Amino acid sequence: MSHSVTPVGYLRSCFKEKFAIPRQPQLAPAARGVLELVAPFDRAEAVAGLEQVSHVWLLFLFHQALEDTPRLKVRPPRLGGNQSIGVFASRATHRPNGIGQSVVKLERVEPGRLWLSGIDLLDGTPVLDIKPYVPYADQVPEAFNRIAEAPPPQVALEWHEAALAQAHEHALRLGEPLVALIEQCLRQDPRPAYQVPEPERRYGVLLWDVQVRWHYPEPGRIRVLEVVPG
Ligand code: SAM
Repeated sequence: MSHSVTPVGYLRSCFKEKFAIPRQPQLAPAARGVLELVAPFDRAEAVAGLEQVSHVWLLFLFHQALEDTPRLKVRPPRLGGNQSIGVFASRATHRPNGIGQSVVKLERVEPGRLWLSGIDLLDGTPVLDIKPYVPYADQVPEAFNRIAEAPPPQVALEWHEAALAQAHEHALRLGEPLVALIEQCLRQDPRPAYQVPEPERRYGVLLWDVQVRWHYPEPGRIRVLEVVPG
């Protein structure tokens, strides 16, 4: 059986590229975005009652990771990229139907628009459905996952003085918690685990419309070098 689905909306996200997006929602509370609903879901009726809900599940398409050939095993970045596990034991982006799910904070509701935070989704992500989080049913106190027991360990982060001033300036202009966003994302160390970070090597990512550049003076320590128009 095949079945076609149509997005109910598209996400406008702080993340303009896949690199440096947290591996799961809630890891960067300062990561914000707006879900723009499309017709007929852009009308007030479709979101009536949602103002009584703090978090929602988003079901979405990994539109920049779609593949024709199904994979049975994947190598999750969490395991260093060199260990493979079954596709159904992983939350990796390579999936049989390209469907992802994230529970995110609902900051504000208006007809046609949901303001979200704690997102782990790329700009332009097509959203297939939205469901309210139901604490009594969705929380499982005895749950465990021995592959993903805790959030990834964080690295130390420091700022070049000028970079911090630049970040504050852009934060004001954007009306976004940019300093917190940079710190929350980079502390999770977006670099692939197999790469040894040479101190001379520069890394960069586009957040909103600014390019953030950093390096590793030594393994386990990030120094933010500049935050400039992207
Ligand atoms: N919480 C979701 C889940 O469990 O289904 C996503 C988990 S997945 C490991 C998170 C990663 O997906 C992010 O770090 C980002 O690189 C990637 N990603 C986010 N949105 C995407 C999109 N629209 N297309 C492709 N990759 C995306």
